[in-house]
Amino acid sequence: MIYLDLDGVLVNFIYSLLYDLGKVYPEEHEGKWFYGEELGITDEEFWAPTVGKPRWWADLPWMPDGQAIFKTVRSFAVENNLKLKILTHPSNDPASWAGKAMWANNNNLLQDMVMTLDKSCIAKPGDILIDDSDTNVGLWSEAGGSAILVPRRWNSLYQERDQSMPEYILKALRRLTFE
Ligand SMILES: [Mg+2]
Repeated sequence: MIYLDLDGVLVNFIYSLLYDLGKVYPEEHEGKWFYGEELGITDEEFWAPTVGKPRWWADLPWMPDGQAIFKTVRSFAVENNLKLKILTHPSNDPASWAGKAMWANNNNLLQDMVMTLDKSCIAKPGDILIDDSDTNVGLWSEAGGSAILVPRRWNSLYQERDQSMPEYILKALRRLTFE
């Protein structure tokens, strides 16, 4: 089974939120995950644009390379007889759960959507997680799964992010499945 993350891999969560907050990207935190504190606001203020708004989540735009990543991973899964699921961690707000379900439905992926507040609890040996969070990748690996960290500005591989991500992920998938 391949599990593909939604926010930050396929859709543009953080830039959409920064836009709504009227904030610029905190460059001093390059290579690190950030929440309200790093932006000089409370966590309540950080999440405020999304609270009670399923549409905020349903209408998140794709990352510039999100659709290409999805197509590449889907083709790889089909060719290698692997199932593909979208695995996403909603916020603590039920509207986030509803909105993500709406996003999946709009993209004909409702049956392939898995939502959980603890991704690692479903990790099994042989299962591959593709995710942009160092923490998720670490916990998934500790739980016995294999994981690919997608280089993005907000994680430890940020200096690798200027190459083709579909190609980067495809190479990593091949390495993992032929090991
Ligand atoms: Mg993510």
